Amino acid sequence: MSDFDLIVIGGGSGGLAAAQRAAEYGARVAVVESHRLGGTCVNVGCVPKKVMWYAADLADALGDASGYGFDVSADRHDWKQLKDRRDAYILRLNGIYETNLARRGVTLVRARARFIDRRTVAVGDARLSAPHIILATGGHPVVPSIPGAQLGITSDGFFELTERPGRVAVVGSGYIAVELAGVFAALGSAVDLVLRTGAALRQFDAMLGESMLKILGEAGVTIQTQAIPEALRGGPHDLRLAVRDGRQLGPYDCVLWAIGRASAVADLGLTNAGVECDAEGFIATDKYQLTSTAGIYAIGDVTGRAQLTPVAIAAGRRLSDRLFGGKADRHLDYHNIPTVVFGHPPLGTVGLTEREARECYGDDNVTVFKSGFLPMYHQLTSRKPRCDMKLVTVGPERRVVGVHVIGPGADEMMQGFAVAVRMGATKADFDDTVAIHPTSAEELVTMR
Ligand code: FAD
Ligand code: NDP
Repeated sequence: MSDFDLIVIGGGSGGLAAAQRAAEYGARVAVVESHRLGGTCVNVGCVPKKVMWYAADLADALGDASGYGFDVSADRHDWKQLKDRRDAYILRLNGIYETNLARRGVTLVRARARFIDRRTVAVGDARLSAPHIILATGGHPVVPSIPGAQLGITSDGFFELTERPGRVAVVGSGYIAVELAGVFAALGSAVDLVLRTGAALRQFDAMLGESMLKILGEAGVTIQTQAIPEALRGGPHDLRLAVRDGRQLGPYDCVLWAIGRASAVADLGLTNAGVECDAEGFIATDKYQLTSTAGIYAIGDVTGRAQLTPVAIAAGRRLSDRLFGGKADRHLDYHNIPTVVFGHPPLGTVGLTEREARECYGDDNVTVFKSGFLPMYHQLTSRKPRCDMKLVTVGPERRVVGVHVIGPGADEMMQGFAVAVRMGATKADFDDTVAIHPTSAEELVTMR
């Protein structure tokens, strides 16, 4: 007989969700985790990042306050104190996650797991077996293969910083680059955002990246475009980034690589279990999260599909519903996943970009509605970041297939609109919804 009904490798967002849901159905479950419970999101991702975003948002608000008659300034920010308070909060979360596992009777094994065969994993000197094994090992930041890359840090290193670096280069153009460039800038660093093309956030609707770069520029971030890193040289407080066209960028106190994440599969012994990866090194899965080996599944970042915490959680819970809850066809639909980039202001997006809609449905079938304005809050502040919105609709019925917003509150706006898009709402449904006034969100139901 197997030791467990289910072994979950990785105690991050996806692994914990799958394990707890399976245990709720009465399954005997083990979670194997080699580091801190909660994985990337809790320890070096969403949670500490959002704490830093709040700090940066406060700094911005303090800067805005004079417009509202206050005499305050944000000159004396204590980065170390913020880090200590943030770390203590995360330590509390680690404990809560452990308690939650214990409460559901899940066995926590503190070790690194490695496959012996398709039903057995080695954990230290012990071996565990189960008919079902879920891989939820997540990923790690990538650094470029160029000389001196190790002189830079990644998002993991960002969370270890004990003081604010004076001059920073953030290399990359995606979620992490934009979010951390925004935090550094708001908290007082001189920031270069180093892009290898002329654009940022290219995976989103073009309006969002264009607006975000403009806003970052207005916030004092220098945007270095067409800058393909070739070497990082120098020492502490004198880092220089050589780029392909001969420019030497810097000097910097800190260079942060934010150029994507790779799957954490290196020493898992996947070949012992016959589990195959795709061309980019992510574990290949079908729509039921099944790998190339029966009984072995993968969820979350290790699969390379929409590397977001709620996606890992949703995939994990649905998988356990299917395996242990009698819901034979339960699986995650990866369409219409809402997401937010926590800039200052944030952007929120769900569904198809305008370009995707035109490619998918043809130009004649796509109608786009746009709005751009200065939010009321900023009428009285010296900062003037505009809010931009776009609805992408298709067909004569104008079904809304994409909602894209950059502006204050976009992060909190998007969840509800994602429900509407998922339910197939049309432009007429948006128009028939009474506005909430005065808000920015009301523009989404009053566009003409
Ligand atoms: P992880 O959370 O990475 O968990 C994997 C776990 O597996 C880790 O704890 C690891 O130690 C363990 N492990 C690996 N190998 C082994 C092994 N062999 N044996 C035992 N254990 C092992 N997403 C959002 O939705 N919103 C955000 O705001 C957001 N912000 C982010 C900010 C940053 C800086 C980063 C880096 C990511 C952010 N993400 C965000 C993404 C989010 O963190 C991930 O999508 C999510 O954590 C993925 O969960 P997971 O369960 O797949 O993997
Ligand atoms: P992203 O995939 O978002 O962006 C990385 C970008 O960096 C690439 O798209 C590419 O853009 C650029 N790039 C790639 N290689 C190089 C290179 N060698 N030199 C210069 N630029 C390069 O990755 P991130 O690291 O920002 O984040 C990883 C994942 O974590 C995200 O995809 C997201 O799923 C998740 N995350 C989610 C957050 C949230 O939900 N708010 C926050 C943070 C992370 P280009 O081709 O335009 O040059």
